[in-house]
Order: sequence, then C-alpha cells, then structure tokens
Amino acid sequence: MKVYKFGGASVRSAEGIKNIVKIVSDVTDPLFIVISAMGKTTNAMELVLEEFMKANHKASLEKLAEVESYHNDIISELFSISENGKNAVKPLFDELKKAISEGVGDDYDRWYDHLVSYGELISTRIISAYLNECDIQNEWLDMRNLLVTDSNFREANVKMNDSQIRLQKAADFSKNRIYIGQGFIGANINGDPTTLGREGSDYTAAVVGNLLDAESVSIWKDVPGILNADPRLFENTVHIPELTYLDAVELAYSGAQIIHPKTIKPLENKHIPLYVRPFGSPSEAGSVIKATTEKPIDVPVLILRKNQVLITVRPRDFSFVLEESLSKAFVIMNKHRLKISLIQSSAISISVCVDNTRYLAGALDELGNEFKVNYNENLELLTIRGITDEIVQKTTDGRTILLTQRTRRSGRYLMKEV
Ligand code: ASP
Ligand code: MG
Repeated sequence: MKVYKFGGASVRSAEGIKNIVKIVSDVTDPLFIVISAMGKTTNAMELVLEEFMKANHKASLEKLAEVESYHNDIISELFSISENGKNAVKPLFDELKKAISEGVGDDYDRWYDHLVSYGELISTRIISAYLNECDIQNEWLDMRNLLVTDSNFREANVKMNDSQIRLQKAADFSKNRIYIGQGFIGANINGDPTTLGREGSDYTAAVVGNLLDAESVSIWKDVPGILNADPRLFENTVHIPELTYLDAVELAYSGAQIIHPKTIKPLENKHIPLYVRPFGSPSEAGSVIKATTEKPIDVPVLILRKNQVLITVRPRDFSFVLEESLSKAFVIMNKHRLKISLIQSSAISISVCVDNTRYLAGALDELGNEFKVNYNENLELLTIRGITDEIVQKTTDGRTILLTQRTRRSGRYLMKEV
C-alpha cells in the first residue's frame, strides 16, 4: 500500500478536490490518504479559539460561521445535491457550536486541540463523501481513535506501539482499497484530542507509512518538487530530484518549509521513500527522499528561516561554570518549547536563536530569574549549504548581520529583517 498526503493548499477549492479524484482514480494501489484542513482553515479556527478563550462566545460563533460558509461554498460547487455534502459535516459543526456555547476556556493548549482539530475532520468528511459520489469507494477514519499520542497538547508525539495495533486493525486493505484519515490530529490515551504541531500532517503521513509498512509515502504539493531555494525569495532556483534522509533533515531543520522536520524519522527507520510530487502535474516525477542517492546535491542550497529571535543569557554572578549554566538554560528553554535554530557560546554567555512563538515571553521571564537576558527580535536566519564567496556576497550584501557561523561547506547568517 501507499500513503498519499494532500495539504491545505491542494484542498483549498473545489477544483483542487476534483484533482484529487483524478489522481486517485489514475492508480490501482491500495491507498491511505492523509488530508489537511482546507486552505487557511487552521488559521481561521485559531481565531475562533482566540475569541472563545476571551469568553467572547458570540464573536467566536461568528468566526465559526465564516469557516462554515467557506466550506459550504466548496460543497455547493462539488456536489450535485449540495445537501449530501452539507449533511456530511453538519454533525461536526453542531458539535463545535455546542462546545463553544457551553465550554469554559480554561486551558489554552487543550482547547486549541479540541477545537482546531475540527478543520481536518471537516475537510476529510467532505472529501470522503465526494469520492463516494464519484464512485470511488472509501472509508473515513477518525484519527483521534487511531493515533495515540502523549498529552503534550499542540505538539503531541505519537506513541507508535499503541497506535500500530489500532491503525492496522482499522485500515484493513482486504476490505477497502482506500482509507481517508486526518493529518495533524490524534488523541491521548484518555481520548482527549491532540494536535501534532503546525504543518503536522506531513508527520501524520510518515507515521501512517511506518505503522502500515507502506511501500512509499507521497506528499502532493503545489511545487514541482524540492528546489534548492524558495522561489518566492530567491532567483534562478533549480530542482533537486533526489535527496538523502540526512539532507532532508538538515534542510527542514534550517527552516526549509518543504516538509515538517518530524517527518523523516519514521520513514528513515523503515527505509520508506518519501516522494514530494507536484499536485498540478501528477505525471511529473517531483523529488524523492531516500536512504542513499545516485548523485549528491551539487548545487548550493539556500534556506531562510524567518521570524527569529536572538537570546543571550549570562549568569548573574559572572560565574564561569559554563556547563552548569548551559544545562540550566536549556532546561528552561525546552520547558517553554523554544525551537532552537542556532547556538553559540562564549566564556560567560550563551546565545541561541529561536522561532518567535507565543511561548517566548514565558521563557524570557523564567530565564530572567536565573540569568541576565538580552534579546533581539525581527531577525532572519540564512543557511547556505555549498557556500561560495559569491553567494555570500549576493545574499548578505548591505544587510546588518548580528551573528555568523561558518564551516568549510556551509554558512549561517543571522540578519535583521529588511
Ligand atoms: N492544518 C494544519 C496546519 O495548517 C496541519 C497541516 O496542514 O499540516 O498547520
Ligand atoms: Mg498545510
């Protein structure tokens, strides 16, 4: 069997969903299809949540009405009898309305997972019903019953052994050729819904591939495959047909938005190849990520990680016991879920570069109890692999650089945003 994953951009419109029908009917393989929320639904559900947490139930329901009407428009365009599509999602919207009207927004992260996970439930319900209407028989699965995670709400980790038993039982390919499940969501052992981190549907696809021993996993995206740089940011980009798992981890860690960083491990463990395929032209090869490649990447790779913060901490007592301070500082940063993209240390200070998230303030606060803390916001981190002076000149010329790290083959430049 194979795993296909379709992201939010692919399912943002009726046209995209019709394209899925085409892609799926062109193959005869047993498929497990993982689907994200439609378009920007996750962001829209975050707004529903914000109002709910402020106890603005009316405003929250208004935001939800926008989400519902966006989906209804897609349904009307897809289904010959739009009631068929609407009936498929009505129970979900009813549950949401009830939860918002009656719930008390106490624990932000827990409520996030409870409410925002509906984006994926809604999209998969619609697409499953539509495939049935197109005579592509399939079974819809609720991943909250199948992927068992820890209780790290908003960034849960899948418990592979517990999930395997459930998933293998549910996805029985002797009964159905096609199963449809949500990306991004699961539940802890008590059944409380969890999410796996933004853009986490790729990780779901990899986990499902691992647990069902897939022949391959394909992530369908609105790009021609993996490129050496983001074409929205850099000129003259080139396509990279093959990468190793290690290359892919490095790229994802540096901030390449092509795949979620957690995607690689479950696949590498079982040597399952990962294809990144162009949604708009399914006959093209795209890129493949696997254990070894015929030809190493021979073009420079440029990755820009935006919205970075540089934090420098120094022990208050001017102590020189760096190891002790290091471990204390990292325990605090880990506790506050800071995602570290770069580390540098001196005799009396440690600097780290992290993503700017809603957890930053809490982390800075707690670090401030132990250390003298300085920080700079609005930065971006450029990573260059296969570095040459010419590329450095071209990409950093005239920029304010706060910090540089250079090795023989690569360079990293932390710069002020322009
Ligand atoms: N819908 C989720 C998000 O937008 C997960 C995903 O798309 O991968 O972050
Ligand atoms: Mg997405």
